[in-house]
Amino acid sequence: MARYTDAVCKLCRREGQKLFLKGDRCLSPKCAVDRRPFAPGDHGRKNAMRRKVSEYGMQLREKQKARRMYGVLERQFRGYFEEASRRKGLTGSTLLGLLESRLDNVVYRLGFADSRSQARQLVRHGHFVVNGTKTDIPSFLVSPGDVITVRERSRSTTYFKERTQMLSTGNLPSWLVIDSAAMAGSVLNDPTREEIAVPLNEQLIVEYYSR
Ligand code: SF4
Repeated sequence: MARYTDAVCKLCRREGQKLFLKGDRCLSPKCAVDRRPFAPGDHGRKNAMRRKVSEYGMQLREKQKARRMYGVLERQFRGYFEEASRRKGLTGSTLLGLLESRLDNVVYRLGFADSRSQARQLVRHGHFVVNGTKTDIPSFLVSPGDVITVRERSRSTTYFKERTQMLSTGNLPSWLVIDSAAMAGSVLNDPTREEIAVPLNEQLIVEYYSR
């Protein structure tokens, strides 16, 4: 499966905001957005001072930001938008709901990984089961009632033993619950817009694809 492999901090610098793609480093003084708050490239610093962004530019940037945050390539992202357009309700909120329901995002939200990219790798390596079935597809969409559990044979690894001790309900979104002792999380409901804590203006994304 295709994926973005360049230095991810450049993506945050390009968007001019933290996208939290690197776990703990994002909260440390090493964060590239804090150290170099301008776009990458030869003209990044100069452009930051005199750039006027068009309406189209704002829509494009918001779409790119969402894509990069969730680690989804363009074709798949457009697929999510088309699916959201077909469903009832507000397209923008539904789009974010679909992205949040990806298994890699859920593993990240439950606290089994520091970043979505790390969560994606854990899922790909087959460390999780959904409702008792091994599921190694990061884009798998979870539904209300689904139970995501660390696979039996992965539980004894140092990573998951240490990780389980760090799991907490502190940052857990209200549409998920965690059972640390069982190394399992459950989906209570489809995430509503209010339950999705991402700094995105989804309306701009809808406008981008509706041009
Ligand atoms: Fe983005 Fe994190 Fe890199 Fe900072 S450390 S630029 S938030 S990926």
